[in-house]
Amino acid sequence: MNTHKIIIAIDGYSSSGKSTLAKDIAAKLGYKYIDTGAMYRAVTLFAKQTGIINEKGEIDEEKLKAILPQIDLNFKNINGKNHIFLNGKDVENEIRSLEISELTSHVSKLPFVREFLVAKQREIGKEKGIVMDGRDIGSVVFPDAEVKFFVTASPEVRAKRRYEELKSKGIEVDYNSVLKSLVERDKQDTTRETSPLIKTEDAIVIDNSNLSREQQLELALKYINERIKNIDNAKN
Ligand code: C5P
Repeated sequence: MNTHKIIIAIDGYSSSGKSTLAKDIAAKLGYKYIDTGAMYRAVTLFAKQTGIINEKGEIDEEKLKAILPQIDLNFKNINGKNHIFLNGKDVENEIRSLEISELTSHVSKLPFVREFLVAKQREIGKEKGIVMDGRDIGSVVFPDAEVKFFVTASPEVRAKRRYEELKSKGIEVDYNSVLKSLVERDKQDTTRETSPLIKTEDAIVIDNSNLSREQQLELALKYINERIKNIDNAKN
């Protein structure tokens, strides 16, 4: 029987399947799931809607900094799915467009945006019993997380998944532009100055290019249960 609630940090590239893994683990353990990418996306959507990001994609950083305290973010479970609410409005679908995806990797470079969201993420994680996914969870948000995963898959596999996902939502895209956008986002996320996506030394790599959803979950649970058992043994 698992007795200790822990923090599970999941980092990885765009469309690597990390959110699927995070959701599956949270459901299995009865933990809370927090999608930090949705938080960066929601801040970006807010900036776009208020004209702080103009038509050319330029960000008025001073204005964004000043307006951040007006942004209220919440997660609610709607029919078993995690939805993010921006100032009381469900924006779960709006934040997933290709335009917001691309703009987000520029907004997420800004140190003051990261500071604002990392503080919120740490607050949410205070009680433990959470699975949080993103780019800097194991490195910055929770460097002491009991379990850290670094999820990866080849760019082509990831682009195909993203393409299928967008298509299933009725969004018209072609595979090559999805692949191009994804490779560009990888570059932005791994080379930025503030909190770039990195694999920490203590993170367990899960390459799911050739794993099914079930196999990936099974593998992750094996590590998690082992870790919890060790913590329980050390405490008893
Ligand atoms: O995970 P997702 O693809 O939804 O994240 C969208 C963008 O938000 C990423 O491309 C990245 O720029 C940013 N992000 C981040 N740090 C996180 C989570 C997401 O910089 N912890």
